Amino acid sequence: MKYTAFPEEGRWLRGNLHAHTTLSDGMVEPQKQAEDYRAMGYDFLSVTDHNVMHTLRELCTDDFLIVPGWERDIPYGRWKCLHVVGQFPDGFPQESYSRPKGDPAKMSMQDLLDEMAEENAFITLAHPVWSRMEPEEVRALKGFHAIEIFNTGTERLCHAGHAEILWDMLLREGRRVFGVACDDTHGKTAKSDRFGGWVMVKTRTFTIAGILEALRKGYYYSTQGPEIRGFTIENGTATVECSPCEEVHLISYEPRGASVYAVDGRPLTRVEIPLKGGERYMRVECVDAQGCTAWSQPIWPDD
Ligand SMILES: [Zn+2]
Ligand SMILES: [Zn+2]
Repeated sequence: MKYTAFPEEGRWLRGNLHAHTTLSDGMVEPQKQAEDYRAMGYDFLSVTDHNVMHTLRELCTDDFLIVPGWERDIPYGRWKCLHVVGQFPDGFPQESYSRPKGDPAKMSMQDLLDEMAEENAFITLAHPVWSRMEPEEVRALKGFHAIEIFNTGTERLCHAGHAEILWDMLLREGRRVFGVACDDTHGKTAKSDRFGGWVMVKTRTFTIAGILEALRKGYYYSTQGPEIRGFTIENGTATVECSPCEEVHLISYEPRGASVYAVDGRPLTRVEIPLKGGERYMRVECVDAQGCTAWSQPIWPDD
């Protein structure tokens, strides 16, 4: 039996799933934001302004798509909050609309997720470390498809952008959750919070629906730069193909995975790691010479 992290057919699209504009608290106009991301080699951008859904259909071109989305939130303490990003497969609404910021007296965290699920959204739990969510608060939430494992904005703001440990906590418990790297763009410059983390989505169709379908199926990886060109499990071996990297890590449970390092200045582009048996999920992280990471989605061998 052979398991692969993504299908062979299709083309890779580079996208940022979390960005703000002057329509909420971002510093860049939507049109300029789209132009800047396109100029950096992105194929799509999801504009996810706070609690407001805008019609931005006119910004889509033949080679660049805006994916409809928004970020909703419930603050529940001076420093604690829930932020959730949603993308919508059915295109843009006829008219822009907004929802009030969630009021914890009226709406639970799960209520917010349920409401987004009813709207058929692809739901990502945003920057849980910056949000100061406790593990049990993350664990209690149901119905989200992905968790931000790297968020450029919160990483550069206060070193709160990484959440791999919470992702693995969910995966160990058998939850089928994907990992997303994104910018959470607010500022104007690459140094502020732009172009630091993105997803590479493999899809057969260059449409909003095609991107959303690939996101729901997990046909993508997250990255700060390195490419993951292949990740397969066959005959008790994990095989990883990547752009030249210094480290390839297999993360698995219940058996521990393994780490492989470049030797004698020869970067890794293909690595085979023997499995120990009984792995309930396996994922890989590839790290390049600049210290940038790419994260695969998990392979679950009981699929
Ligand atoms: Zn947020
Ligand atoms: Zn945000």
